[in-house]
Amino acid sequence: MVRSRLSRSLRTVAAEAASMARLVRGTRSGTARILYYHRVEDEAHRSCVRPAAFAEQMSYLRREGYTVLPLAAVREHLDEKRPFPERTVLVTFDDGFADNYVNAFPILQREGIPMTLFLTADYIGGPELPVLRDRKGVRPLSWPQVEEMARHGVELGAHTLTHPNLTELGDEELHREVTESRTRIHEQTGVPVDSFCYPRGHFDARVKQAVRDAGYALACTTLEGCVSVATHPFSLRRTFVAYDDTMRDFRHKLEGSFDMLHEARSWLRSSSHEQAAL
Ligand SMILES: [Zn+2]
Repeated sequence: MVRSRLSRSLRTVAAEAASMARLVRGTRSGTARILYYHRVEDEAHRSCVRPAAFAEQMSYLRREGYTVLPLAAVREHLDEKRPFPERTVLVTFDDGFADNYVNAFPILQREGIPMTLFLTADYIGGPELPVLRDRKGVRPLSWPQVEEMARHGVELGAHTLTHPNLTELGDEELHREVTESRTRIHEQTGVPVDSFCYPRGHFDARVKQAVRDAGYALACTTLEGCVSVATHPFSLRRTFVAYDDTMRDFRHKLEGSFDMLHEARSWLRSSSHEQAAL
């Protein structure tokens, strides 16, 4: 008796989960998933993806026929309200670590995959990029490395000058971090900079307006999920790829299996946009 009741309730739960999954799949049609990475390095740190794992992930995208778009294409889709092709993915990197050039760039070139690099402009070309909370002493990219990547089609975006929490800055400092990073990258490389990424995902209406006023066309957050034609261009959701993601996890992330979990988590944490470990 108890067993049959239990099996009935398990069947109900399974049926509800399946219908929920169908619903999620349905709503994901025509969307794009923006992946975000920090470092590609053989180091046991949450923000590092091992070069071998990164190579496997990129070749999976190619092998499985994913459409990998540059970020500039997102703006066109949003402006024209044109749904994304099925299985659309984008690859972005935050901060500007030297390993992006040494380890990730050759793999992306080999696979013909476009990427966008969000640079913390003040630290590029310096001795270290101290933006990860629990990992100091990591080398940033040099400007010649950035230039070379840009020459080979890598899109450059701004990630402020010094990686502050933008919501805590006064208007003047906010303006400086947002506008001068754009100018600096443009001056150093000659490449136009149209996209922005909020450090640690901190933003609010005032920050968003400052980014728009500075002339950017798009801004990326650390809110998890995918981008649809209804998404606000200054609140682009992304999907974090972590150190310990297996290929199965990576596949699930691409397919949106974790989206509902992340939705629930961000609802619980609705007072903050911060991603705790980064
Ligand atoms: Zn960052």
